[in-house]
Amino acid sequence: MRNADVARVMEEIGGLMRFRGDNPFKIRAYENAAQAIRELDEPLDALLAEGRLRSVPGIGAAIEKKIADYAATGSVPLHEKLLEEMPIGVLELLSVPGLGPRRARAAYKEAGIDSLDALEAAAMDGTLATIPGFGPKSVEAIVAALAQVRKHAGRHLGYEARALAEILAGRLRERDDVSAAEVAGELRRAIEIVENVVLVAAANDATPVIDAFCDHPMTAEVLSRPKVGGRTRRAKGSAGAKKGTRAAEPGVPEAAVRLGGGLVARLVVVPPDAFGAALLVETGAAEHVAEMKEVGRKKKLRLETSGLAGPRGARVVAPDEAAVYHALGLAFVPPELREGGGEVEAARNGELPVLVERGDLQGLVHIHTTWSDGRVTIEGMATAARERGFTYMVVCDHSRSTAIAGGLSIDDLRRQIDEIRRVNEEIDGIEILAGSEVDILADGSLDYPDEVLAELDCVVASVHGAFRLPRADQTARLLRALANPWLDVVGHPTGRRLLSRDGIDVDMEAVLDAASEHGVALEVNGDPHRLDLDWRWHRAATDRGILLSIDPDAHRVSEIEELLASGIEFARKGWVTAEQTLNARPLKDFRAALRRNRRGA
Ligand SMILES: [Zn+2]
Ligand SMILES: [Zn+2]
Repeated sequence: MRNADVARVMEEIGGLMRFRGDNPFKIRAYENAAQAIRELDEPLDALLAEGRLRSVPGIGAAIEKKIADYAATGSVPLHEKLLEEMPIGVLELLSVPGLGPRRARAAYKEAGIDSLDALEAAAMDGTLATIPGFGPKSVEAIVAALAQVRKHAGRHLGYEARALAEILAGRLRERDDVSAAEVAGELRRAIEIVENVVLVAAANDATPVIDAFCDHPMTAEVLSRPKVGGRTRRAKGSAGAKKGTRAAEPGVPEAAVRLGGGLVARLVVVPPDAFGAALLVETGAAEHVAEMKEVGRKKKLRLETSGLAGPRGARVVAPDEAAVYHALGLAFVPPELREGGGEVEAARNGELPVLVERGDLQGLVHIHTTWSDGRVTIEGMATAARERGFTYMVVCDHSRSTAIAGGLSIDDLRRQIDEIRRVNEEIDGIEILAGSEVDILADGSLDYPDEVLAELDCVVASVHGAFRLPRADQTARLLRALANPWLDVVGHPTGRRLLSRDGIDVDMEAVLDAASEHGVALEVNGDPHRLDLDWRWHRAATDRGILLSIDPDAHRVSEIEELLASGIEFARKGWVTAEQTLNARPLKDFRAALRRNRRGA
């Protein structure tokens, strides 16, 4: 049995049970098991045979039994029963954000809606709005969500793809015949949404490496693999193989597979002395690689996946990328920058930025606690922050309008400020600042009056609603917020949720101008579902002298480092340096840089 198939069955059981309205704890168990199996790098067969299945977190007795059933018969009776009860398109319907299993069931029962197409048709001809539970507003939302689902088909969050890619790379590195293996492609460039995974491995004999990759338990389908004699063969009917994958370079052995979650992974295997060139070519955006090839041509060097070649084809030994950049007379370009945005020129002139690093960060902004929707107390988060080397932390719980996330009333906020001052007395080695993540309301006013905001040390203000205002209104909204003298940092400036909700439609140039004029910092929110401000705007911000605050938006201790890491990587992608980072400043300078303390200066 293939792990990927079992994972799919578990996930479908979860989805179908959701549709049926079953116990949410049971449903979670199947969904968790699917995720755990998807990330396993051992065959389930082996785990089952050795009685080790239960040692996998997420697999309990009930799931173990179902896996055993699957191994013995090729199916799981519960799965079969659920499929029999329910129309096949239900699984698709469950992927539409905002529809929800209860309404999906109503749509099916009342109007026989059993697919995305049927859902769309019913939304358009007015049928959907007549079904109990649906109104004009929700129909509109579903039409928008459907467009998102279609638009995002085949795309994956970078951090989810990364987890799988690292497992595959780790497996390759463990092999004695592989001297190096790295994740390349968009993931290595820290792109937030990816269509595929690219791996590059160094080995003298590619065949056994590629065979093992194609037969890996995480593989659901082999899309292409080299046939004996060298040329790559594509699987019949696998259109997905081409999507987002570069055409294979003749003579370079490579294979492409589809992993259980639908992600396509491509492996390129080259001899060890070509690894640097291959990794470079397979990592850079097309523009970067084209510029690098051009630099090479001027030096009579040919840069290809198959290696770096000198005159008359003599191979230049380049076991790593640094050797290739060096041979081309360039400084090493960090992978995040390889987009063709001027980095090759900067590398030639010794003008690459020194990018911000984890070690530069001195304080944490945008930390939630149990006062709103965080899971840990003020003290708990402060102790954890101190242990991780931070010297200050700004508590930013939600404001009163975000009732759903436990937003604080004015009285609660004042009590919290007192509590923060009290904890500060008791705890050494870190300064806790009283802040808030204040809602930017639809009209651009902030969710607390100015005199309350003035009592805080630092105010982060974010958009949490009214996402679909027209551009002019949305821009006016942010400009009004930016004009508030107590606003210090704009949190996740566009409110985007990757692969589920577009950011607000706003004139970003105007927003940046206003932030610059008022001395307001912008957040680079590290939540991998947000990564907002988008890296594509970072240089436009820093060029205007705007400081960026790299924030974890942490709700629990483990998120401090996890979310900060993705935020840092994203800021690096935007060419951000420590000097341009608000929270890379020591406390005194941090305070001085806040807009509230700059007024009149
Ligand atoms: Zn927020
Ligand atoms: Zn937050």
